[in-house]
Amino acid sequence: MKVLLTGGSGFVAVHCVDLLLQHGHEVVATVRSDEKGHYLQELFKGKPLSYVIVKDIAAEGAFDEAVQTEPPFEAVVHTASPFHFNITNNKDLLDPAINGTTGILKAVHKSAKTVNRVVITSSFAAISNYSNPPKVYTEEIWNDQTMEEALTTTNPQAAYRASKKFAEKAAWDFLESEKPNFTLATLCPPMIYGPVLHQVKSLDDLNTSSARMLRLYQGIPRSGPVGSPMHVDVRDLALAHVLAIENPEAANQRFLVAAQLATEKELRDIIENNFPEIRGKLRDEVTDTLPPWSIDNSKSVNVLGLKYRPLEDTIVDTVNSLKALGA
Ligand code: NDP
Repeated sequence: MKVLLTGGSGFVAVHCVDLLLQHGHEVVATVRSDEKGHYLQELFKGKPLSYVIVKDIAAEGAFDEAVQTEPPFEAVVHTASPFHFNITNNKDLLDPAINGTTGILKAVHKSAKTVNRVVITSSFAAISNYSNPPKVYTEEIWNDQTMEEALTTTNPQAAYRASKKFAEKAAWDFLESEKPNFTLATLCPPMIYGPVLHQVKSLDDLNTSSARMLRLYQGIPRSGPVGSPMHVDVRDLALAHVLAIENPEAANQRFLVAAQLATEKELRDIIENNFPEIRGKLRDEVTDTLPPWSIDNSKSVNVLGLKYRPLEDTIVDTVNSLKALGA
């Protein structure tokens, strides 16, 4: 298949490119600069990968040109969305998340009629319901934040959660109102760890979830957002994206793509057992309590055919990758 992938410079996206190419697909990635495009081309030299510049996914018509190509696209993977807490206004997160999602769907609907499937990287943030948590989280559950809360909260993490909820909701609403040619699949991962393949010029530039693992390795877990006590390996999530475009049964389905719950202490213990140089250097407390709810990831296993790799493999590979970057 010829696949358009948005946000090609991101942590998750580069693994999606890798898996798409391994499955024999041709990829066109959107990136914000030639430098980021060249990095990808160098990483996947000799493979059917090209790039197109989309500078700001929040802008009206941002994807209108990118979706038009010969031969035409058959599938779209939309990963681009801001995942950081460095904002001056909640709209810094809400606009790219929501407009980016509606923008890609509108562009495909209007100008890329050959696209059969659009896969969107949503988040457990779009599922997690803090005011009324269920006993078991499934794909049926939705974050209950309102748009008013999204616009007025002074907590950037809450604004991020809202950005993912309203972006995913906008996608399902678009499907309902526009009845496009394509079907949709949304993937809802919690914290994503694993090897870093994307361009990272300095450890200060790490994506949010890799930075969290770096802090845990460095023994300063509390210096940043704690995040959900649940994880998925970026390679398993990338495979889920590929399976979601390949598998007819994924049509119009939402998937909770999460391996398991794990406390910060469990993660830290795995790191200490495998990297003894950090023993005794923990500079802040780590939480060791699991939440009073669990998750049901059986749909991702039964419908997508996903097999989750063990937590220890994910953590060890993540830390090795961070050490290779200078940690
Ligand atoms: P990254 O920050 O590594 O990647 C985000 C991507 O989105 C980058 O390519 C970035 O481009 C692009 N992007 C952000 N804002 C804009 C914009 N306004 N215009 C154009 N491009 C933009 O994050 P991840 O790879 O971790 O996240 C990928 C997806 O996965 C996101 O949708 C995120 O919400 C979701 N997710 C991530 C989780 C995690 O733990 N990592 C957990 C759950 C969901 P550039 O590099 O140029 O800034």
